Amino acid sequence: MPAVIAKYDVKAILNRLGIEKVNYGAFNGEWFGNGKKIVSVSPTNGEVLAEVIQADEEDYEKVYEKAREAFEMWRMYPAPKRGEIVRQIAQELRKHKDDLGALVTLEMGKILPEGLGEVQEMIDISDFAVGLSRQLYGLSMHSERPGHRMYEQWHPRGVIGIISAFNFPVAVWAWNAMLAAVCGDTAIWKPSSKAPLCGIACIKIVQKVFERNNLPPAIMSLIIGKGSEIGEKLINDKRIPLISATGSTRMGRRIGEAVGKRLGRTILELGGNNAIVVSDKANLDLALRAILFGAVGTAGQRCTTTRRIIAHRDVYDKLLDMLVKGYKFVSIGDPMKPNTLMGPLIDKAAVENMMNAIEAIKKEGGEIVCGGEVLKGEKFSTGTYVTPCIAKVENHYDIVQSETFAPILYFIKYDNIDDAIKIHNDVPQGLSSAIFTTDLLEAEQFLSAVGSDCGIANANIGTSGAEIGGAFGGEKDTGGGRESGSDAWKGYMRRQTCTINWSKELPLAQGIQFDTGE
Ligand code: NAD
Repeated sequence: MPAVIAKYDVKAILNRLGIEKVNYGAFNGEWFGNGKKIVSVSPTNGEVLAEVIQADEEDYEKVYEKAREAFEMWRMYPAPKRGEIVRQIAQELRKHKDDLGALVTLEMGKILPEGLGEVQEMIDISDFAVGLSRQLYGLSMHSERPGHRMYEQWHPRGVIGIISAFNFPVAVWAWNAMLAAVCGDTAIWKPSSKAPLCGIACIKIVQKVFERNNLPPAIMSLIIGKGSEIGEKLINDKRIPLISATGSTRMGRRIGEAVGKRLGRTILELGGNNAIVVSDKANLDLALRAILFGAVGTAGQRCTTTRRIIAHRDVYDKLLDMLVKGYKFVSIGDPMKPNTLMGPLIDKAAVENMMNAIEAIKKEGGEIVCGGEVLKGEKFSTGTYVTPCIAKVENHYDIVQSETFAPILYFIKYDNIDDAIKIHNDVPQGLSSAIFTTDLLEAEQFLSAVGSDCGIANANIGTSGAEIGGAFGGEKDTGGGRESGSDAWKGYMRRQTCTINWSKELPLAQGIQFDTGE
C-alpha cells in the first residue's frame, strides 16, 4: 500500500511535486504567466490546493517560440536517443507515482487506486514509446521503373498542440506527449483549467530530465488558460500542424472546424455513449462486476463509462436486481480513503447537469430505479457527492442519445441479437462497446462488420479501462482519432515517399514518352 494511502499530508504531497501556493501557468523552459489567476479547489473537501496565474495571449507567443526553437534541434536528435530521454522520464514518473497519483485524486476526485492507475498508464506509455523509438518503420516498395528504389520514411511533424480534459488530467497528456517526443515533435500542452496543478506537476517532473541532459525543456511545454482564449489561439495557429484534443463533442466540433479551415490535422477524442449488451447466455456474475466498475468507477466521469445496458428480456429483471443490490455496496466518500469506491463529481455544475438529466429521464417517460440523489451532511459539504443512478428507459429518448458526464446507467430491453446490435449502434457516439455472452456466434457477430460500430469492441470484458497497447479512439461523434498504442504514432509524423534513380536513364512512370528532341 503506498504510504500516501495510509496517511496523507496534502502540503507535503504538493511540496514534493514542486507545487507552490501560487504557480505560473506557462512554461517554455522558464515559468511565467500574465493572465487571470485561478484557484484549484479540491472537489473532495472544498480545500484550496493552490493558485495558478494563467497565460495570456502574449505568453502564448513566448511558449510557441521556444517550442519551435526546441523542435529545430529535437528533430535531428536520433529517435533511439529521444527514446532514451523518454526512458528517463518513465523512471522519474515511477519515483513520483504516489504523489502524482494522490494529486490526481485531490484535484479531480477519482479514487486513489484510479489516480495511481492513471500514473501507471503514463509509465506504461512511456515504456511503449521507448521501444517504439527504434521501430518507426517505413515500407520499401518495388518501383515499376528499372534501376529505381522506392521507399517511405517518417519525419517529425513540428510543434504540436495537446488539449486535454479534466477527467484524465495526466494520462491523456502522456499518451500524446511520449509518442510525440520519440517521433521528434515538440508539444505545447493546454490542460483543463479544472485540473491545472496536475499539468504543472507533470511538466516539473519532465523538466528535470531535459535539464539533466542539457536539452531544451520546451520540448514539452505548457500553457494554462481558458479554452475560448488560449485554446482558440492554439487551434487557429497555422504554425501548429497537429492538434490532438480530448474533450466533449461540442469542443471537438469547434476544433475540427477551426483546424480543418486551415487544413491542419486533428486527433479528436470526444464523448462516448458506451453500451454493454448482456445476452441471455451471459455469465451474469462477470457482467455484474464489469458493469459496476464501468458505470460507477470515476463517478461516471470516464469517456468509456458504461452508460447503457442492453439486456436480453429473459435476464433483464434478474440483472437489474443484481445491480441494484450491488449499487448498495458502493461506498461513497473521500476518494483518498482506502475503502471508497466512488468519489465526488468534479464540481457543482456537474451535479446540476446530472440532476437535470434525471428530470429529463422522467419527463420522457423513464423510471428511476435507484440513486440520483445529492448527498448531504458534514462529510459531503462540498455538494459534489451523488448516489449513482439506474434508470429504465427507451434508447430513442433525447437524454439517452446524449452523454451526461455522471453516474447514470440506462437499462434497455432487447429480444434478439440483431435487435440488440441495432439498439447498440443507434446513438450518435461510437467510442467503447461490449457484449457479455458465452455464445461464440453472438460474440463474433458483435465484433464483425455488421456488429458494434465503435472504435473499441470487447467480448466478456466491460467498456471501461482500455490498455495502452491498443490504438484508442472512436467513431462518429467521438471524433475518429487514435492515440496510444498500435500504429497511432503515425499521426504524429509526416509520411514521405522517396524514389531514387540509380540508373543512367530517366524512364517516366506509366511508360510515358516525353522527348526533349535532343
Ligand atoms: P471540455 O470539452 O469542456 O474541455 C476539454 C478541453 O478543451 C479543455 O482543456 C478545454 O479548455 C478545451 N477547450 C474547450 N473549448 C475550446 C476551444 N474552443 N478551443 C480550444 N480548446 C477548447 O471537456 P471536459 O469537461 O474537460 O471533459 C469531459 C469530456 O471529455 C467528456 O465529453 C468526455 O467523454 C470527453 N473525454 C473523451 C476522451 C476520449 O478519449 N474519447 C477521454 C476523456 C474525456
